[in-house]
Amino acid sequence: MNILIVTFVVLVSCFGCTLAGEKVNTPKINPLNTTTKTKCKYIEYGQHRHYKYEQYSGALDYIDGKGLRPEVAKAFLEMAEAASNQGITLSVVSGYRSYNDQEYLFEDLRMAKGQTKEERAYVSAPVGYSEHSTARVVDINDVEDRFVDTEAYRWLQNNANKYGFELSFPKGNSQNISFEPWHWRYVGKDGEFKDQFCP
Ligand SMILES: [Zn+2]
Repeated sequence: MNILIVTFVVLVSCFGCTLAGEKVNTPKINPLNTTTKTKCKYIEYGQHRHYKYEQYSGALDYIDGKGLRPEVAKAFLEMAEAASNQGITLSVVSGYRSYNDQEYLFEDLRMAKGQTKEERAYVSAPVGYSEHSTARVVDINDVEDRFVDTEAYRWLQNNANKYGFELSFPKGNSQNISFEPWHWRYVGKDGEFKDQFCP
């Protein structure tokens, strides 16, 4: 009996040891970054930086079944109509994401793919750090690298800024996140929402 109890205690304490070890390896959240936007909090896994975003809880309008803030949906529809007039189809494949949605995309897929947090952070944002949580962001048409070779991407490169959209993660971005030609954030035609994003 005593041996059983001792074994149990050893097992439990080893399990505790493992958890404590993982915590040591978790990157710490820095309270402030060093840019001019002091409100920008971020987390880093290795070289990959993601900024903190609150989870939006206001009204959503839906396009292609994906939720967006009403002003963003309106701007997207205006842009999509202009593209359509030139034979280009733009559709929304991802808009607003709750923290729960992001938990699946970062943590569940990371484990399914056998990736480290650092590897996953290159292509996906940890929970609480996705621009999609703001409902001001659209993924357009196809979230694969091949999107860069489409007419739709070329059209967006030349026209999206007229409708208030900009690429969040261009090549060589300062966050060291993979180039995402499909991921556009709404900063407003006059940049009036630019300060909603970091950096
Ligand atoms: Zn995206």
